[in-house]
Amino acid sequence: MGEPHRMRLLTGPTPLQRLHALEAVLGTGPLWVKRDDLTGFGVAGNKARTLEFLLGDALAAGAEVLVTGGREGSNFCAAVALAGAVAGIEVRLVMPGEETDRLSATQALAVAAGAEIVRMRAAGDGEQGHGDPGDLDAAIEAHAERLRGAGRAVYVTPRGGATAIGALGYAEAAHELADQLAALEVSPQHVVVAVGTGGTVAGLLTGQAELAAGWSLSGVCVSSPAAELAARITSLSAGCAALRGTQPGHALTLTDAAGAHAVLTEEQERLADLAFTTCGLLLDDTYTAKAFQRAVVLAGRTSRPTVFWHTGGVVNAVHRLTSRKVVV
Ligand SMILES: *Cc1c(COP(=O)(O)O)cnc(C)c1O
Repeated sequence: MGEPHRMRLLTGPTPLQRLHALEAVLGTGPLWVKRDDLTGFGVAGNKARTLEFLLGDALAAGAEVLVTGGREGSNFCAAVALAGAVAGIEVRLVMPGEETDRLSATQALAVAAGAEIVRMRAAGDGEQGHGDPGDLDAAIEAHAERLRGAGRAVYVTPRGGATAIGALGYAEAAHELADQLAALEVSPQHVVVAVGTGGTVAGLLTGQAELAAGWSLSGVCVSSPAAELAARITSLSAGCAALRGTQPGHALTLTDAAGAHAVLTEEQERLADLAFTTCGLLLDDTYTAKAFQRAVVLAGRTSRPTVFWHTGGVVNAVHRLTSRKVVV
């Protein structure tokens, strides 16, 4: 296996930072944050790492059009639109819902980057889905097939870029973290990350196995239940390890996030507000505020350090804070 193709999007390693002020307020053991909200490509967060390898692969394959999709608030769709613009590849985003002039912030970013939104019902040959993830993946595939039929060179990637190639970014990122931890002589017990489609945690699992790391990886499932995702993550991680010529990992703990999808519990909201006012961290209500709660719980149980892997979601995090009804 040769070196995978990569299009550089990150500005460099993201900071690893200790949250002293939060530890003091919460009375936990050492709490660190890996700042992948600062990957430095638009507001792509974790998706920048995924897209370095997906876009690299698409360019190497000579793709003219990249087809993917996601829900209304998808950070992946906004990020892939921007990456496609930079790479000179057209981007089509298959999304549920009707045509509207009231786009979500991430949809508006995708359109600003030049991507075209294709409504699910118009994606294939008129088949209508019900908006669940399986239907969306089928609609993405149907739209890609239609473009291939028209003679276009198409690159398809599923929701979240959750493929073995996409996971390569986080296998690399695990090594980046390991280098930083070694330089600081910090040896964490837990590394905690939010899990949506599972590509991010799958890559970390691959990297963790390669490092024979002394920390355990904890994934917090925010959309699909852990029980549904576990097998998929294991297989994505194995595929990623195969691409890297390494052995697959297995040491992963998955838990389900507390509360309903994209709705914070009171405790999650309190912690997210505290992270903002004590350390300037922006946490969103779909992913990072949910995973952060888990990190705080784990950090409360051990005197060894806990690393919270911030995955971004900054657009929705700002929205969380700015859409509150307040009178001043
Ligand atoms: C997409 C996303 C995740 C989850 O990544 P997956 O690879 O889909 O599991 C976590 N946090 C944020 C902010 C995201 O946008």
